[in-house]
Amino acid sequence: MRHYPAYCSDCKRLWLVATQDAPSASPTCPRCTERGRLVPGAYYSDPASVVFSKLEAAIVASGMSPSALGRLSGELERLLPSPTEQEIDGAFRDMMQRLDVGTELEASPGKRVALRMIVTIANTLSQPVVRESGVMRLPQTIRGLFDPSAK
Ligand SMILES: [Zn+2]
Repeated sequence: MRHYPAYCSDCKRLWLVATQDAPSASPTCPRCTERGRLVPGAYYSDPASVVFSKLEAAIVASGMSPSALGRLSGELERLLPSPTEQEIDGAFRDMMQRLDVGTELEASPGKRVALRMIVTIANTLSQPVVRESGVMRLPQTIRGLFDPSAK
């Protein structure tokens, strides 16, 4: 099974779409059943999908602001292209501490992959605010569109 990350702008959460085939471009959010969108980039194996879900939950629970998340993903993106193992170790330890996630995530699928996941998640979560002042890409349904409650 391949697991494709998707994002729901209503819930402001990511989840993974598990499929053997090509996933829908607008998968249904398991939390609110609205249409979300696929996050371009990687897809994950079964074991990696568990790590992704843990990281996603931890990042949301950390309560970091969108701008903090944007900075975080920027930092990691600058680090990741050609780091030494030592830098990866350091960044990984630092992240696990900041996110309050156990280092059990180390084993599979690897620190580098986990850090890339954090970039994907943090980058996606940091974006809605950027679009708030401009043209937002709206989901296909209108329900809840003008609902001011921040879930
Ligand atoms: Zn949702």
